[in-house]
Amino acid sequence: MAVERTLAIIKPDAVKRGLTGDILSRIHAAKFQIVAIKSVQLSRTEAEGFYAVHRERPFFGELVEFMSSGKSVPMVLEAEGAIAKWRETMGATDPAKAASGTIRKELGTSIQFNCTHGSDAPQTAAFEISYFFAGSELS
Ligand code: GDP
Repeated sequence: MAVERTLAIIKPDAVKRGLTGDILSRIHAAKFQIVAIKSVQLSRTEAEGFYAVHRERPFFGELVEFMSSGKSVPMVLEAEGAIAKWRETMGATDPAKAASGTIRKELGTSIQFNCTHGSDAPQTAAFEISYFFAGSELS
């Protein structure tokens, strides 16, 4: 399997609840390399741009409000098959439906407040990584 990079975000719900360290431990335990990491507070406009593919979804307004409500921690993770591997580590979008042992199952509180984000395909990973990180931060 090829080595890939994906964009992960520890979302504002998890940061506010003091779960950043717990989630980083799970990332290390799953043997991802953290290539780059930062702490940011997205503006509404930045959150809208990041989630532009969801513009037409009924929850778009709530999602933008949530993602710009506090600090979040975007990072670039590297591993063999990183995109699928990180989505597996996170679990399904809705914590109630996520497999046991996953981050969203153990830490998420609702379909919206599900603690983490992960890219869903190589093209979205490339867009999302470049949304937060300059090439000079990714060597
Ligand atoms: P993901 O790829 O698993 O994060 O899921 P999606 O791309 O479908 O949705 C993006 C994010 O929008 C999710 O991680 C949730 O935070 C939020 N979300 C998804 N579905 C719903 C929903 O039905 N209601 C609300 N309020 N938020 C949702």
